[in-house]
Amino acid sequence: RFLLDREDITVSVVGLGYVGSCVAVSLADNGVDVVGVDVDASLIEEMEAGRCRLKEPGLPELVAKGRGSGRLRVTTDFAAISDTDVVVIAVGTPVQEDGTLVGTQVENAATEIGLHLRAGQVVIFKSTVPPGTTRDLVAPLLEGGGLTCGEDFGLAFCPERLSQGNALAEIRRLPVVVGGWDERSGAAAERFWRAGLGVETVPCSSIEAAETVKLLNNWWIDHNIALANELARYCAAIGVDAMEVIAATNEVPKGRGNINVLSPGVGVGGSCLTKDPWMLWRSARERGVDLSTVVTAREANEAMPGYVAGLIVDGLAALGTPADRSRVAVLGLSFKNNTGDLRSTPTLPVVSALREAGADVALFDPLADPDEIRKEFGVEPSSGVEGAASGADCLAVLAWHDEFAELDMAALRALTAPGCLFLDGRAHFDEQTVESLTGLGFTYRGIGR
Ligand code: NAD
Repeated sequence: RFLLDREDITVSVVGLGYVGSCVAVSLADNGVDVVGVDVDASLIEEMEAGRCRLKEPGLPELVAKGRGSGRLRVTTDFAAISDTDVVVIAVGTPVQEDGTLVGTQVENAATEIGLHLRAGQVVIFKSTVPPGTTRDLVAPLLEGGGLTCGEDFGLAFCPERLSQGNALAEIRRLPVVVGGWDERSGAAAERFWRAGLGVETVPCSSIEAAETVKLLNNWWIDHNIALANELARYCAAIGVDAMEVIAATNEVPKGRGNINVLSPGVGVGGSCLTKDPWMLWRSARERGVDLSTVVTAREANEAMPGYVAGLIVDGLAALGTPADRSRVAVLGLSFKNNTGDLRSTPTLPVVSALREAGADVALFDPLADPDEIRKEFGVEPSSGVEGAASGADCLAVLAWHDEFAELDMAALRALTAPGCLFLDGRAHFDEQTVESLTGLGFTYRGIGR
């Protein structure tokens, strides 16, 4: 019954955080009628008015466009899902410190959906969860209204693999992994993603395999960054440029497999890479399997903020300005480049360590919400780069946003103390730019350089 073989399918998206909002607006932009459902009344009120609090490039514009065209409706009322062919679930899945899933959002959402589900619908679950959650937790709750999974309605797990900062482009580009409850559910979900977003699909033979794909995905990224971070520390010790080593290593002739070592940086933050490896670790542990590489990668990445703070303190000392008599301007506070998201940002422990060392720290991030900066960092952010940089002994770039490319480095240099330390916390600048920064009178130091 759930074939989804019509052109004019309608969709509800439950949970309108980063993932849900990006999926909802992208579908609406492709001409699909979408209704978004969230329990956060203030979020719904904002979106209803065509506004969006999430700082994802292009997202506020597409929310406004979707509301304007009438393709995107939003509500707190779960009854709205009854009128749609597909129900996408993208609620949050935090974990406790030991990696145990805090399943409240999933349970509440699945329970409500179950009460409003009708025969013929397909439910697509996107939240990252320990394998087994869709079958053992979500499906029984969806059946709470009396329908049977696989008979009356379809169910598939399709992990979201977008990366914040580039989410809207990736949603239309990345193939969607599909694990169906049964063959019909999987086929319907595949048809939906191909028609709705025009993307390729990667079918898995089970829901559990698809759930595991997402965890491997983030395990691999965390591990890869850990390699780059440890390499950077090693290269700094032997006087070799880590970025040169990575670029040369990544040059692998076709047919010899792929090597794609990522870049080192100030650490790994955000809401996913800091929790998903522990979710995986916990799930394995419960079955007596010890995933030691999860632990070592996490440790390597969690050590980076301290390492970067040390680079700044040592760099200042080498310039004859002890940290407790220096002013450090931090540019970029978010957990990665080109997003304003401060969740679990590794820049916070850097700033805390600098403050502990006695430095006067000024903060600026053009993408992050000033209220959130006040809340997370406990200080008033500067309103512009100039204010932050004025009189600084160190400019520390801890997240590099595209906006910063417009910065007049010579003018900034004139505002700062002579010989100002320029700390490149994202290994962002190429050799030529480093030369020009040095030519302006900055003292450059970068991770792995
Ligand atoms: P989020 O915290 O930004 O959003 C979750 C949303 O769900 C919130 O708006 C919240 O109000 C809403 N919600 C909570 N309980 C609800 C309920 N019972 N009914 C309806 N709505 C409810 O989370 P996110 O970053 O969008 O992540 C969602 C899922 O996708 C998580 O499992 C996450 O691990 C995964 N994921 C996130 C990203 C990312 O970059 N953020 C990438 C890939 C996968």
